[in-house]
Amino acid sequence: MDHYAVIGHPVAHSLSPRIHARFAERCGEALDYRAVEAPLDDFAGTTRALFAAGLAGANVTVPFKAEARRLADRVDPVADRAGVVNTLRREPDGSISGFNTDGSGLVRDLGIHLDFPLEGARVVLIGAGGAAAGVIEPLCRAGIGELVIGNRTAARADALAARFRPLGPVRVAAMTDLPPADLLINATAASLAGDLPALPDSLILPDTLAYDMMYADAGTPFLDWCRVRGAGRRADGLGMLVEQAAEAFLIWRGVRPDAVDVLRMLRPRAAPF
Ligand code: NDP
Repeated sequence: MDHYAVIGHPVAHSLSPRIHARFAERCGEALDYRAVEAPLDDFAGTTRALFAAGLAGANVTVPFKAEARRLADRVDPVADRAGVVNTLRREPDGSISGFNTDGSGLVRDLGIHLDFPLEGARVVLIGAGGAAAGVIEPLCRAGIGELVIGNRTAARADALAARFRPLGPVRVAAMTDLPPADLLINATAASLAGDLPALPDSLILPDTLAYDMMYADAGTPFLDWCRVRGAGRRADGLGMLVEQAAEAFLIWRGVRPDAVDVLRMLRPRAAPF
């Protein structure tokens, strides 16, 4: 049996073990998947020891995705540009390859589960951390019309836009000056603290899809804020989580599992956003 893990700190709350156990059961793949909390000061040592002991692959979560980029011997171009890796795979020669599946997870959630047409869409992305960096290239490749990045620390948004501008229509705006959006994505960690970035009301149109990368059955402050201002559609990041996991499973096992089945398992009733 092959062994896999999600490595983070903290990690006890992670849904990944449940998601991958279900994928494995439904695909008839024999594997074991567990959560490993690495010490904050020794992600590399912990991860190398796990791979040396036979780990076949790992998901990497907060706060280790940039360290995972540095640990990997070889990095897929999307993860390389993003500077963050969320999936590691041991190769037959013992080396470790790194990937980033967050962006394809988001694009698949939008296209498959939310039926949102990305072609030509005006996208506003709030946040300039690892999650934001991971989704910009896949969004550009999906043919969006414009991507405007706003971040509390403006210099981080500037740096991100400069890195991705060669790939598509990417620009920066002050948080108070963000334009109306067809798709408004919250990629900040604010919701995790029950907080909300300061945003202009004019961002929201009646048919805006408001998307919070954080997932919570009870909704998030960001999605509440968007609903009150009239955003016609709202979604949290559960679909992205499951689709990025499905992409990782495909990278490891060569078979794409059914994300819809797992979404139904995790959220049997429609979310009250
Ligand atoms: P990072 O720590 O790398 O980035 C945090 C970002 O949030 C920065 O842009 C930071 O701004 C901003 N921020 C934090 N607090 C506030 C606040 N109170 N007000 C305004 N901005 C704030 O985190 P990640 O990029 O890794 O993760 C971001 C979010 O995305 C998390 O909620 C995470 O759970 C979610 N996520 C979801 C995934 C999914 O599959 N659904 C996958 C990956 C992430 P500044 O630069 O000014 O500090």
